[in-house]
Amino acid sequence: MPETTKKCGRCKDTKDASEFYHHKSRKDGLTGYCKVCHGKACMKWQGRNRDQLRAANRKYYHAHREEMIKRQAAYRDTHQEERAKSRAKYYLVHREELAKKAAEYYRTHRDYYSRYQAKYRAEHREEIAKYRAKYHKDHHEELLKKDRAYYYAHREAILTKADAKRRAAGMKQYKNAKKGTRHAR
Ligand SMILES: [Zn+2]
Repeated sequence: MPETTKKCGRCKDTKDASEFYHHKSRKDGLTGYCKVCHGKACMKWQGRNRDQLRAANRKYYHAHREEMIKRQAAYRDTHQEERAKSRAKYYLVHREELAKKAAEYYRTHRDYYSRYQAKYRAEHREEIAKYRAKYHKDHHEELLKKDRAYYYAHREAILTKADAKRRAAGMKQYKNAKKGTRHAR
């Protein structure tokens, strides 16, 4: 009768033969470790060898860099249309999904981006001001036209707003003056 259970050499549990992987060169045709332990041992091995593997990959890449870059570029060149088509198709098919993902990504990273932007702006204030000034100078006519067009399109709203602002400023002045006379007394 064939053995149906086996003791694992690692966790020392006695398990069903199906809990072990097949191994031709071993006497009972099964691995010494159970599947669970085998997996753990593999992971440990990979972890230990990850750096080595990475170094080997890097070495290979550096040794064959030129060749690989050339090959990739050649592939891209000869498959340009194909690639563009498959990309377009992919976007079309996954449009909703991609839009959802992008929105979700934006939602979860909004704080990060606004913080990043604020930091960037603070660090590059002069540069940005210079760029803006140059832009205004270079696009003076265009911007003026745009401003004018905007003004005519929104004249009513702008005038109403300005009026309200003036009134508010007047009120503030009046209040301050009143406060001033009170303090003066
Ligand atoms: Zn085990």
